[in-house]
Amino acid sequence: MDIPTAPLGQSFATLPDRFFAPVAPSPVTAPAWMSFNQQLAAELGLDLDYWQGEEGLHVLAGNKIVPQSQPVAMAYAGHQFGNWVPQLGDGRAHILGDVTNASGQVFDLQLKGSGPTPFSRNGDGRAAIGPVLREYVMSEAMHHLGVPTTRALAAISTGERVQRETGLPGAIITRIATSFVRVGTFQYFMARGEHEALAQLADFVIQRHYPALEGDAHKYPKLLEAIIARQAELIAKWQLIGFIHGVMNTDNMAVSGETIDYGPCAFMDHYHPETVFSSIDEFGRYAYHNQPRIARWNLGVLAQCFLPILHDNEDAAVQLAQDAINEFAPLYDQAFQTGLCRKIGLRFTKDNMALAVAFLDLLQKHNQDFTNSFRALATLDPAEIEVNSNRFEGEGWRDWLGKWAAAHDNEDASLAARQDMMRTCNPRFIPRNHVMERMIEEAKGGDLSLFNTLNQVYQRPYDDQPEFDDFTAPPTNEERVLRTFCGT
Ligand code: AMP
Ligand code: MG
Ligand code: MG
Repeated sequence: MDIPTAPLGQSFATLPDRFFAPVAPSPVTAPAWMSFNQQLAAELGLDLDYWQGEEGLHVLAGNKIVPQSQPVAMAYAGHQFGNWVPQLGDGRAHILGDVTNASGQVFDLQLKGSGPTPFSRNGDGRAAIGPVLREYVMSEAMHHLGVPTTRALAAISTGERVQRETGLPGAIITRIATSFVRVGTFQYFMARGEHEALAQLADFVIQRHYPALEGDAHKYPKLLEAIIARQAELIAKWQLIGFIHGVMNTDNMAVSGETIDYGPCAFMDHYHPETVFSSIDEFGRYAYHNQPRIARWNLGVLAQCFLPILHDNEDAAVQLAQDAINEFAPLYDQAFQTGLCRKIGLRFTKDNMALAVAFLDLLQKHNQDFTNSFRALATLDPAEIEVNSNRFEGEGWRDWLGKWAAAHDNEDASLAARQDMMRTCNPRFIPRNHVMERMIEEAKGGDLSLFNTLNQVYQRPYDDQPEFDDFTAPPTNEERVLRTFCGT
């Protein structure tokens, strides 16, 4: 009988050498499964017998290389908190290769925490259990919330310790993305004046993410526009569910439009536009309400990197870049405003938008929970708010609820349809910080039961799951997480 093998495609690794460093993961002493995402594996069309078996474990732990595969660490640069860093690159991640699912979409498979690379600088190339499980739960929850994101295929404990402020159990996550190309990847070549590589990179991105542009006479300007449009949609989705990325550096923005690099990210509990969790975000650069502006800034950087390939004529290139970037605000506004009106069960109109904004203002004023307050609207009959509106008590609410009821009178859709709409965009379950902290503490002690439960609960974030109502509670004062830390 043949030894089972699971060939991987190598489309990223067939790009020219300067796009990556060929480097194998470093083996670990005692790998063990913490989780294998069977559902995702099936969606990708992976051979479960192989990947879930002994050999799969060793491949995803970095102990074994899939035959004929060429693991690589990607080169990229980036602006970190606005400061230019000409070389970053995967310092602790290895792309093993790619898989193609039944509908022909290609996905890169990457280990993170799998050992040093030429881009590690002073880092050890490793990851601790906390950030790995956090990324696993968060990224899967985001997917089920309907937000484009990298996915988590596996989490493996290495049997080794990693030294951080204290010694911690080491772990490796397997991430799946339609590609790991970032704004910072374009910056890397722009900064080196390697314009031919910029075109090669753009062609790779077109092939992977925007195949409709292949052969188009204006493919690069259209690619830039398409990336900007996807980011506008993505950031609107973050805002609408209260997700704060925490480290929106240009190296952490994927050109696929997928959320990438779950470090100190967090969901907002009570609504406040200036909410910041990341311990390293001293000045609130990446606060909740700044995310759209920062995205636009990052995309402005990307547009500059496109200049050499947009047009032979410099002025024409600048004009194309400017036109593309000017599209961000209207696209974002449209996605956000339509979405916000939907969250209160209404069509987008200027008046409904003002009403939705007034709702946010009241949440802020009364320190109320973002997620639960929107969800509660889906359970109210606007025509009968007197009966059951006790969640919304305090100055201003009665007036707001009256206007909300009047606005609903103008809707054609039935009450049931409006409530359904609210239920499908206002989640019941989000990964709350204090729950994630508890999950990590228990996992460090060897207990993965909460980790497993959360993965199950967050698969259906828009469904009522009364047996799990505890997870919907905002933190008590003692439970409140004020700071989250970088994924290290
Ligand atoms: P991040 O803030 O996670 O986006 O990472 C910024 C850069 O630091 C990237 O180039 C990472 O690969 C690198 N990096 C982060 N942690 C480590 C580590 N433990 N070892 C090596 N490189 C790291
Ligand atoms: Mg990063
Ligand atoms: Mg990272």
